[in-house]
Amino acid sequence: MTGESELLRVEELSTRFPVQGGVIHAVEGVSFTQRSGETMGIVGESGCGKSTLARSILQLVRPSSGRVLFEGTDLVGLSARRMRALRRHLQIVFQDPMASLDPRFTIGRILEEPLVIHGFGSKATRRARVAAMLEQVGLDPTAASRYPHEFSGGQRQRIGIARAIMLEPRLVVLDEPVSALDVSIQAQILNLLADLRESLGLSYLFISHDLAVVRAICDRVAVMYLGRILEEAPTEQLFAQPAHPYTEALLSAVPQPEPGARRRRVVVSGEPPNPEHPPEGCPFHPRCPRAMPVCRREPPGMRALGDGRRVACHLHDPNLVDGSGQN
Ligand code: SF4
Repeated sequence: MTGESELLRVEELSTRFPVQGGVIHAVEGVSFTQRSGETMGIVGESGCGKSTLARSILQLVRPSSGRVLFEGTDLVGLSARRMRALRRHLQIVFQDPMASLDPRFTIGRILEEPLVIHGFGSKATRRARVAAMLEQVGLDPTAASRYPHEFSGGQRQRIGIARAIMLEPRLVVLDEPVSALDVSIQAQILNLLADLRESLGLSYLFISHDLAVVRAICDRVAVMYLGRILEEAPTEQLFAQPAHPYTEALLSAVPQPEPGARRRRVVVSGEPPNPEHPPEGCPFHPRCPRAMPVCRREPPGMRALGDGRRVACHLHDPNLVDGSGQN
């Protein structure tokens, strides 16, 4: 489901962390937009900067430069008071629900907390809302009197989702929300997320290393590598016709849903480079099977391919390369 209005616009966002003797470029010049009602996926290998990007968007980590426009308001540099007021519209679900649910408190208290912080209704109204929300995420309302350790991993993630949507946010960031769960439970949680999106009109920013999961739930996907977006496309186009050699390599490792379907296996050699010392030129060139001399010298700019795709790769620059790989 996609709406019309722009919900989120990220412009040239960079987040760098000083370390002894250098700087880690965790997020570098990231730009994308997300429409209201859309599920946008951010996918990449572990350590590519996708979780730091999510936290930078929510201002849980302070970006070094760039803008994050949420419904037109730039969140970067917003006063603590204004950010607090906006928080109810921007929520996050973490990978490990056990770590994010305080074991000392009942589920009822955990779910009521955001309502108390934002001054929502009387105690009776808040309790009724907690009960209704537990039902909405597929749990019995009596769960309110129990503690986090009494639930399974999948049930705890349902509670984490309930907490995130208590205040009817406009954007929910899902940071690897099913990675810690068994595959059968993953499907149940993805179905729940899809149902909630439909019934509550939510927009998701879905962070994952798992392309199969991203394919199941996202309208559009951005592929991250070494803190940068290398390709962004509508989900089906990305899977059918990847434009970037890195996307091609990631997809070639994913099992195909159709029986008998085969994708040419592309091998990416080596490990991702150290984000403290990103390579000159294209960040992917040390591992790219199609690298050309220009790739070592010049970083490719992001290029719109028409059909809603964007890609940062010299192979798509008609002024630079004729496809022969001789530039
Ligand atoms: Fe490979 Fe060059 Fe494209 Fe980078 S710019 S992905 S090195 S072909």
